[in-house]
Amino acid sequence: MAETAQYWMRNFVDGAYTEPEETSGYNNIDPATGATLGPVHAADESLVNRAVSSARRALTAWAQTPVAERTALLRRAADRIEERFEEFVAAEVADTGKSITQARSLDVLRAPQNFRSFADTVAAAGQESFITETKDGRRALNYAVRKPLGVVAVIVPWNLPLLLLTWKVAPALACGNAVVVKPSEETPSTATLLAEVLTEVGLPAGVFNVVHGRGDVGEFLTRHPGIDGVTFTGSSATGSRVMSAVAPRVRPVSFELGGKNAAVVFEDADLDETLDGLARSVFANTGQVCLCTERVYVHRDIFDDIANGLTERASALTLGRPTDAATTTGPLISQAHRDKVLRYFELAEREGAELLVGGGVPDLGAELNGGSWIEPTLWTGLTNEAATVREEIFGPVAALIPFSDENEAITLANDTDYGLAASVWTNDLRRGHRVAQAMNVGMSWVNTWFLRDLRSPFGGMGLSGLGREGGASSLHFYTDPTNVCVQL
Ligand code: NAD
Repeated sequence: MAETAQYWMRNFVDGAYTEPEETSGYNNIDPATGATLGPVHAADESLVNRAVSSARRALTAWAQTPVAERTALLRRAADRIEERFEEFVAAEVADTGKSITQARSLDVLRAPQNFRSFADTVAAAGQESFITETKDGRRALNYAVRKPLGVVAVIVPWNLPLLLLTWKVAPALACGNAVVVKPSEETPSTATLLAEVLTEVGLPAGVFNVVHGRGDVGEFLTRHPGIDGVTFTGSSATGSRVMSAVAPRVRPVSFELGGKNAAVVFEDADLDETLDGLARSVFANTGQVCLCTERVYVHRDIFDDIANGLTERASALTLGRPTDAATTTGPLISQAHRDKVLRYFELAEREGAELLVGGGVPDLGAELNGGSWIEPTLWTGLTNEAATVREEIFGPVAALIPFSDENEAITLANDTDYGLAASVWTNDLRRGHRVAQAMNVGMSWVNTWFLRDLRSPFGGMGLSGLGREGGASSLHFYTDPTNVCVQL
């Protein structure tokens, strides 16, 4: 590490930031320019052990803290994030290259909402109870007592770092767990800042810990005997590795994994509204949202209208400096990820794709050309057999495929190993409900996309995940119900 004089991004263990050594880090890179942002202190196994031990020590007292106190602290955290809003925005924009407009209106906005929503859910939660009557005339009261899961490993990706982190940390803490968080190696900053905020609002030392680093650090955590459960958001391949790591100790997992999401556009859809929604669903966050659409099935009667309209909207996106308010579209997260997406661009050509727009790397001038920029891209001419239509690409790209009737559209949309999200575009009320329900996915939207109610279940089927989070579903994952039976 050459940059020892710079400010280090530090791990946070037992209520304090750790001191890095000269050799223990890696550089955080600005994806918009390729420049070095600064060194990050990567944890080693002994630091992960310390983080888990500190969480275990803090667990009992935090679990016994009254719910009203825990939820009040979460609400103070929400207030404090709002007070320090622009610091979180700046950190998120620097790490990801996403547009400042999006960071303000989606990423950082959702963090206080996550804290408040789960404070509400946990404060209002009741317990199941049953009166049991036996044949021989005895009566008993059965009631459930929900106990915190324990020490939870929270492992998250780089695409919506603070949003996804707080989506898990808020319910975990509200339910009385202690956490060890591993943010993505690409995006260490907002998790580090969140540690400061949680300390400011009075969270006891050890309840929230952050360990930085790559997959090996994640694995130290998932294999650790002191971890009682793992909540993971990331790729399906890593999810599978996490599952193997926890299998010997049979720990619960919650998995929010990849997607290859479909949009189905019927001939009666409102054209402008649909095109605006589709453009958002394909290109938001440079296509790096697990919910993004990569397959667009369009009724033959309006195929050309949708293809032309979506091409126009792709061409109108503004790629540029992330801190410019007019920028709509940032770079991909890294050169390595851009290489992957570019390999799919080449593969699509070999698979017979016709390019409507994009397909390459834009020239944005000297300041930005060192970044991992890519052109928003649309294809026609591919079928469901193409690897580019079957595999998650995770970039600003979609294949447009025609269909002739509702059954064919449902068959095509469901012909995937994934099952995260879908959107259906139609003005026929009954068809909207029918097709949305026929989608084999965790979340279906009709005439909209990524409109979220945090109380509703979120998760995927097939390769897209295991379990659900959100509202009561989070309560179920982050607690263990135990039954008490009292003979009356
Ligand atoms: P990734 O799987 O490469 O990494 C995710 C996290 O896991 C990172 O923190 C990484 O360091 C860590 N990790 C890597 N190997 C590990 C291992 N062996 N053990 C433990 N941890 C390990 O995913 P990514 O590239 O960061 O994110 C993109 C993926 O995330 C896409 O597939 C996307 O669809 C998915 N995603 C899903 C959702 C959802 O809610 N379903 C949301 C956002 C992103």
